[in-house]
Amino acid sequence: MMRNDETALVVFSGGQDSTTCLFWAKKNFGKVTALSFVYGQKHVKEVALAEAIALKAGVEWECMDVSFVGNLGKNSLTDSSIRMDMEKPEGTCPNTFVPGRNLFFLSIAAVYARERGINHIVTGVSQTDFSGYPDCRDAFIKSLNVTLNLAMEEQFVLHTPLMWIDKCRTWAMADELGVLDIVRYDTMTCYNGVQGDGCGHCPACKLRNDGLHKYLACKKNNS
Ligand code: ZN
Repeated sequence: MMRNDETALVVFSGGQDSTTCLFWAKKNFGKVTALSFVYGQKHVKEVALAEAIALKAGVEWECMDVSFVGNLGKNSLTDSSIRMDMEKPEGTCPNTFVPGRNLFFLSIAAVYARERGINHIVTGVSQTDFSGYPDCRDAFIKSLNVTLNLAMEEQFVLHTPLMWIDKCRTWAMADELGVLDIVRYDTMTCYNGVQGDGCGHCPACKLRNDGLHKYLACKKNNS
């Protein structure tokens, strides 16, 4: 799908998924810009890591402060007084869900993109391992894509390279892109703010590390 003459904007948290997407975008587009958000997350270190990864990747990086997003809805990623759900509760979102996060981020990204004549927007959401977050699902992204186009009379294309793949295949994608080590050691996905392989026991680490071990085992068996 090479589009050498076009630019992509990647919504970039500096975690495993968006970093994999950043390098996917580098392979598929002539130019890439990464946009990170400060949204009141407890671990603002992720923003510094995102900047460092963007620098290493040689892409333009910008950070925007949208702290109001984290304060609007109660959640354990921005509010230290709430104990983090370790598992997805029955019939509801875990309290690590930041209500409206992807809606706000992608809407802001679209306005930012429009100002710069960019119509490709890349996000690392995945329905496969969606952890109960409704705004990671394909129906939401497709619906928002239509809404953004109608809202701004534009032809945005929201790209979701990870939508239908699990964490194991996300690691495989990073490896195919030649950035397995960057994704493994330079990113932070951990809810407890530990870089690389993380704390090992929070829900984000479990998902990430299970996928990694599965991928590394597959790779070993095939070599
Ligand atoms: Zn962790």
